[in-house]
Amino acid sequence: MSLQPNSGAQGEYAGLMVIRDYHLSRGDDHRHIALIPQSAHGTNPASAVMAGMKVVIVKCDERGNIDVTDLRAKAEQYSSDLSSLMVTYPSTHGVFEERITEICAIIHEHGGQVYMDGANMNAQVGLTSPANIGADVCHLNLHKTFCIPHGGGGPGMGPIGVAAHLVPFLPGHVSVNSPGGGLQQLTANNGQSENQTATVDRPKTKNPQGAVSAAPYGSASILTISYAYIAMMGGEGLTRATERAILNANYIKSRLDGHYEVLYTNNTGRAAHEMIIDCRPFKTAVGVEVEDIAKRLMDYCFHAPTVSFPVAGTMMIEPTESESKSELDRFCDAMISIRHEIREIENGQADRAENVLKYAPHTMAVVLTDDWNRPYSREKAAFPLPYVRARKFWPSVSRIDSAYGDRNLVCSCVPTDAYAEEVV
Ligand SMILES: *Cc1c(COP(=O)(O)O)cnc(C)c1O
Repeated sequence: MSLQPNSGAQGEYAGLMVIRDYHLSRGDDHRHIALIPQSAHGTNPASAVMAGMKVVIVKCDERGNIDVTDLRAKAEQYSSDLSSLMVTYPSTHGVFEERITEICAIIHEHGGQVYMDGANMNAQVGLTSPANIGADVCHLNLHKTFCIPHGGGGPGMGPIGVAAHLVPFLPGHVSVNSPGGGLQQLTANNGQSENQTATVDRPKTKNPQGAVSAAPYGSASILTISYAYIAMMGGEGLTRATERAILNANYIKSRLDGHYEVLYTNNTGRAAHEMIIDCRPFKTAVGVEVEDIAKRLMDYCFHAPTVSFPVAGTMMIEPTESESKSELDRFCDAMISIRHEIREIENGQADRAENVLKYAPHTMAVVLTDDWNRPYSREKAAFPLPYVRARKFWPSVSRIDSAYGDRNLVCSCVPTDAYAEEVV
């Protein structure tokens, strides 16, 4: 492991540099092609380019899985120049790719290395592992799977783990004289030599890898959060958390069945720890966009799940292990109720332009007015379900023009003149 990378994306960069150094050490200077499936997170191609690689995209099939025929063809085409495959498992489509071991084997046959994007480790811990599927490098998003709070820009941690043959190529650091940023923890599979440390000599490559971040152990202080989490959960607890995360996702999937279409599932109709619901048909039918659903969720006291990633016009729901059943039920009730609101537009009960969805979210200022002139009631706007009445969260701002905001700097502060006047 190297604890240097400060984010998942930095872990990807560090891991690809490890792979690059490995190829260089074998005289394979020409191996610079990174295969990346269509479904990959945007950071994957970005990291590959930063690591000096050329990105070749691999297709996905209609079920969201990697198109193995296309993968095989590309691996053959670029065989002598193949550096690596970057693959997320379970995929960002929320499915455990059933042919993952075969996929990794194809890359190895052609001399490449497999980088497993570990952002979805929440669906693996205790049940399977990157080594199990044949991956050579992976990062762990400690701020996703291992409890470090995230949002608002961090800080996160994205340490990388590598297979034994790549240990000598882990990032070094000027202040500690070994790869990995310091002590090498070589843990045997039987777990008995957990505290055994060994010094690994830096290999004589043409470009020995330097540090990937300023500090040898990254944001070391927040590692204590993950450490405490792991210590308190224990192996059994962590496994249960994984099982819960998968169960919670499939519970939501079952409850929303018949109301929303889930875009991708495995052969048994199940999701992994997250699922993508397709909102595009509502736009075609009645002009309701995924953004309208996201905004309306605020009226039901929910922050919307991920919108339009990895598929535009869809919503990706990842409940994680940490919500109670009643909270999951409240969320499902809200989603089902919103589906009924869409149906009201479908069958002409509600207007296509003037409806609760298009006007969502409803702030206190909007609802508490004497000249209410919308074609739906104020109660429907603010208290759409009984639980909302019991503990209402009021959104503070109504609908904003997101596209305008993305393109223009909008200052909401008072002009400096105002302060000048006050001083006088
Ligand atoms: C979050 C995520 C990343 C990037 O991790 P950061 O810590 O945000 O840099 C990469 N890949 C996938 C699949 C992710 O979900």
